[in-house]
Amino acid sequence: MALERTFSILKPDATKRNLTGAINAYIEKAGLRIVAQKRMLLTRGQAETFYAVHKERPFFGELVDFMISGPIVVQVLEGENAVAKYREVMGATNPANAAEGTIRKDFALSVGENSAHGSDSAENAQIEIAQFFSGNEIVG
Ligand code: UDP
Repeated sequence: MALERTFSILKPDATKRNLTGAINAYIEKAGLRIVAQKRMLLTRGQAETFYAVHKERPFFGELVDFMISGPIVVQVLEGENAVAKYREVMGATNPANAAEGTIRKDFALSVGENSAHGSDSAENAQIEIAQFFSGNEIVG
C-alpha cells in the first residue's frame, strides 16, 4: 500500500501540560513519521473555519474557545494507512470510551479537551494539511 498522509493537531490541553513530546512518542511508536510540525496560536477565524462542519452543534462555541485558549501543534503524519492508523492511536473522541494505550485514554481531560485531532478521511486530510502547510514545509 502506498504511503498516506494525515493531519494532526496537538490541542491546547496538551501544550499546556507539556505533553507534546509524550504524544509524539505514541505517534512514532505506531510507525507514523512526523513529516511537518509547527507550534502556533489559532485565530478565532481559523478555528471556526477548521471546525465549520460542527457549527450548528451545541458544543461549537466552547470548542472554538478551547482551541484558541493556548498554543497548538499542527502536524503532518505519514505512513501506511496513516488516516485510519492515527485515528486508532488517538482513540475514541470521549476518553471515557477510548481503548487502553491510546493517546486520548492516557492524556485527554474530557470529550472537549481531548488532546489530539486527526483527520477522518484522506480527502479531509488533504484539505486540512493545505490550510496549515505549504508543500515545501512538508519533508518526507
Ligand atoms: N467535541 C466536544 N463535545 C462533543 C463532541 C466533540 O467538545 O460532544 C469536540 C472534541 O474536541 C472533538 C471535536 O469536537 O475532538 C470534533 O468532534 P468530532 O466528532 O469530529 O470528533 P473527533 O474526530 O475529533 O474524534
